[in-house]
Amino acid sequence: MPEKPGSLCLLKLHIKARHPVDLNDSETIYMQAIEKESCSNPCNVCESTDITVLANHSRSGKPLRTVICNRCGLVWTDPLPHNPRSFYEDDYRVAYKGTFTPKPKHILRAGKVALNRRKILGKRLEKPLKILDVGTGGGEFAYLLQSLGHDVQGIEPNKGYADYSKQEYGLNIQVGFIQDIQQPDASFDLITIWHVLEHTENPYKVLTKLHSLLKPQGVLVVEVPTIEATCQSPKSTFHEAHIFNFNLDTLRKLGEKAGFTEVDYKLSQDGANITMFFQKIAQASNDRPLTIPGNADKIKAIVKGHTAFSHYLTAWPYQRFFTRMSRMLQERFETANFERGKKLLDSLYS
Ligand SMILES: [Zn+2]
Repeated sequence: MPEKPGSLCLLKLHIKARHPVDLNDSETIYMQAIEKESCSNPCNVCESTDITVLANHSRSGKPLRTVICNRCGLVWTDPLPHNPRSFYEDDYRVAYKGTFTPKPKHILRAGKVALNRRKILGKRLEKPLKILDVGTGGGEFAYLLQSLGHDVQGIEPNKGYADYSKQEYGLNIQVGFIQDIQQPDASFDLITIWHVLEHTENPYKVLTKLHSLLKPQGVLVVEVPTIEATCQSPKSTFHEAHIFNFNLDTLRKLGEKAGFTEVDYKLSQDGANITMFFQKIAQASNDRPLTIPGNADKIKAIVKGHTAFSHYLTAWPYQRFFTRMSRMLQERFETANFERGKKLLDSLYS
C-alpha cells in the first residue's frame, strides 16, 4: 500500500512539535494507520476498502465525500449523502425537476430520449418480448415499447410519476424499488435500466436481482453516466444523487460479478453515457479476479486533468449553452397546443 508522503510528513511534524523526540518504527506504523483513508462501505465491485478521496464537495458546493477504490477504480459517495429510499420516493423529482408529475416539456424531452433508446436497442426489439423497464419515470419509454407491441412492465419509486404513467398511458407499473419487486424469477426476455444504477445504494444487489428476473439467455441493458466524461463542467462531476460513478471497466466487472457477460456497449456521442448490453449466463464465475489493475490511476488522471481551465478551452460549454437555448425554444413551440401526454407522445412516436 503506497503511503502519501506529504500528509504523513505533516502529521509527523505535528507530533514532533508537541513531543520533541524521534518517532520509532512502531509509532511510524501507528501514524500510517491513522493517515490511511477509510470508508464506511467496502467497494461494491471488488470488496476492497483501499480507497483514495477524490473530492470533498458536490457541484452545489455542499460537503460530499467522493472516494475511489484503488484496486478497481469504482467511484462512490462515502458516507451516503441521504437515505436513498425516502430521497427517491419523494424528494428526487422535486429537487431535480420541481414537480411530482411530468410537465409537457419533460414529456416531450423524455419522448425524444425514448426514441433514441429504441434506436440503440435496434434489432433486439424486432420480435415481441416480455420487457421490464426499471425506473420508468414518467413512462415515456415503456409506452413506446408497449405501442411497438411488447408486453411491458415497469417499476418506479416515485408515486406521482408512477400514477401518472398508469393513468395516462395505461401502463403496468409497480410503485417501489427494484429490490422489492413482486415478480416470479425468470419472467423477462429483456430488462432495461436507464440512469438508475448510479442512484442505488447497492448496484451489485440490483444486478443480482435483475439476473434472477431474466429468463435464461435474457438480455440486460444498462445505461449510466461515465466518470470519464469531460463534456460537463468539472464542478458538476460529483453530486448527491449519483451515489456510484462507473466507467466501462467497472460496469463490465460488476455485471460479470452478478452473472452476466458483456456482449456489446455504446458510448453516447458526447462521451457522457455508457450503454452496456449484458447476457445472462448460467452462473456467476467467482474464480475471476475482481480487481482492475491500472483503472483507478487512469480515472484519477482524467478527473484531475478535467479542470475549469481545460474545460472552457473546449467547445463543450458553448455548444451546451446553445443546445439548451434552442431546445428551450423548440420545446415551447412543440408543446404550445399541449392537451395530454398521450396525445403528445402518439404524434411523436407515429
Ligand atoms: Zn474496488
